[in-house]
Amino acid sequence: MSIKSLHDCQLTRYSLPMALPADYHMHTPLCRHAKGEPVEYAARALELGLPEIGFSDHSPVEHDDQDDWRMLAGELAQYVTKVEHAREIHPALPIRLGLEVDFIPGHESWIKEMARRHDWDYFIGSVHYISGKWDFDNPKRLAEWAEHDVDEVWADYFTRLTTAAASGLFQIIGHPDLPKKFGHRPKRDPTSLHMDFLAACESTNTCIELNTAGLRKDCAEIYPNFEFLKLAKSSNVQITFGSDAHSISEVGMNLKDATTLAREAGYEQCCRFNRLEKDVVKF
Ligand code: ZN
Ligand code: FE
Ligand code: FE
Ligand code: ZN
Repeated sequence: MSIKSLHDCQLTRYSLPMALPADYHMHTPLCRHAKGEPVEYAARALELGLPEIGFSDHSPVEHDDQDDWRMLAGELAQYVTKVEHAREIHPALPIRLGLEVDFIPGHESWIKEMARRHDWDYFIGSVHYISGKWDFDNPKRLAEWAEHDVDEVWADYFTRLTTAAASGLFQIIGHPDLPKKFGHRPKRDPTSLHMDFLAACESTNTCIELNTAGLRKDCAEIYPNFEFLKLAKSSNVQITFGSDAHSISEVGMNLKDATTLAREAGYEQCCRFNRLEKDVVKF
């Protein structure tokens, strides 16, 4: 055997192409901080060989004037049309219709109202707001971290995230350790926060998302971290994958790394959704 073919053989053996998972977290220009249309994201997904994608743009909230980084309530139908257009142009690619819904306690009836309006495949419940009206992951609000105790932020975040998971309003919980985004790590051991949250996920059969956007932020790691993910596995909490793409070039980004991390944590399967029906597939 020549050196070259021996080398090829080892390559085949050690870098068996793992199937890419579905990318379930993608945005559209309607949220006013993402670029590229769903039809263009879909073309990129086909180029990458993604088996399935899902759009999950920032949902409207009850009051349109809450912030400037989401679609307005009156734009929801336009969002659905954009996703349907991508489906028409790229029939070879399964394209799911989702939303990244902000979980704000007291706004549950608004979330149920949105759920009734269209044929959604899934909702990702995300917590970006804590302590009243502070969107702690917004770069424009970064200075406000100085006014907060970091451990209190983490505790408040998980109280809200656990309520979101327990509500049963969401198929998936998004980026479940988002407060690390700018590098604010908890000083207290967060294990009990993780356990309470994961118990709520298990009781409502809610998945968590492996979100690769963290690799592109100061924290430089996937959401959630490895310890948290191992705990999720031992709590029987299922997973999905998402790039959180806000541009065409971010579609599918680092999903290979996310599957590697998931496998190291013991996962072999992830979830897909079709009209809120869950399907479990190998990755
Ligand atoms: Zn966004
Ligand atoms: Fe988010
Ligand atoms: Fe997102
Ligand atoms: Zn997100």
